[in-house]
Amino acid sequence: MLKGKNALITGSTSGIGLGIAEGFAKEGVNLVLNGFGDAAEIEKLRADLAAKYGIKVLYDGADMSKPEQIEAMMHKAQKDLGGIDILVNNAGIQYVAPVEEFPTAKWDAILAINLTSAFHTTRCAMEYMKAQGWGRIINIASAHALVASPFKSAYVAAKHGIMGFTKTIALEVAEKGITVNAICPGYVLTPLVEKQIPDTAKARGMTEEQVKRDVLLAAQPTKQFVTVEQVAGTAVFLCSDSAASITGTNISVEGGWTAH
Ligand code: NAD
Repeated sequence: MLKGKNALITGSTSGIGLGIAEGFAKEGVNLVLNGFGDAAEIEKLRADLAAKYGIKVLYDGADMSKPEQIEAMMHKAQKDLGGIDILVNNAGIQYVAPVEEFPTAKWDAILAINLTSAFHTTRCAMEYMKAQGWGRIINIASAHALVASPFKSAYVAAKHGIMGFTKTIALEVAEKGITVNAICPGYVLTPLVEKQIPDTAKARGMTEEQVKRDVLLAAQPTKQFVTVEQVAGTAVFLCSDSAASITGTNISVEGGWTAH
């Protein structure tokens, strides 16, 4: 059903974004990958996905903190593929510190990448989606879009923000065949999470093992990390006909975290 559609996934050189890219690739969806990393590794990833699934795979290294680069990426991607049917706003970074020690540059970067970039991609995607009368926008939010944890002020603020943005745009385009939703994952053991373990240990005066067991998985009643495949499957579902009436909402994939 999705075969031949085109998806752009921000932050898809690693972790959840890469998993979502592969999830769509399996459905025959052409891809625009984005994100940072070693140029040769990214080119291998691009070529491997294209060959394995028989799809077109482009890569654009636009920095999601730079509005003019985002705009250029969106225009180029739409020109090269003929349009973007599925937009996944996934790129994100994290920083963990008490608010009085939180570097202002980190606050600005987190808000720019985790929240404002979705405004720029979405505004550039609209004209084509409206003209087609079909579009899917999926914002990778977080359980932290619904509840908070200490020492993550910028991240929690940005993720709560993306939830409000999701609802607003869903209302704006509800009659146009375009759905806009957020997926709220719990902890997935990606580089983003692995990197914050030492900082959380420092902020809380714990060992790294204690952080994994007593902080990260303490929040998840299943006591299991969510997998990238589970998030990817949810993204593919949101693009299916069965999900056509799901819009302006969030799907939690977090092992029961927010049921507390
Ligand atoms: P990750 O660090 O593995 O991947 C992040 C991706 O974003 C990478 O491809 C990276 O290159 C890219 N990126 C970072 N800064 C960028 C920039 N300025 N411009 C372009 N690309 C940039 O992280 P992840 O865990 O896969 O996180 C992906 C998304 O999922 C984020 O929005 C994150 O907040 C969200 N999330 C993650 C978890 C988790 O437990 N891992 C839980 C909930 C939500």
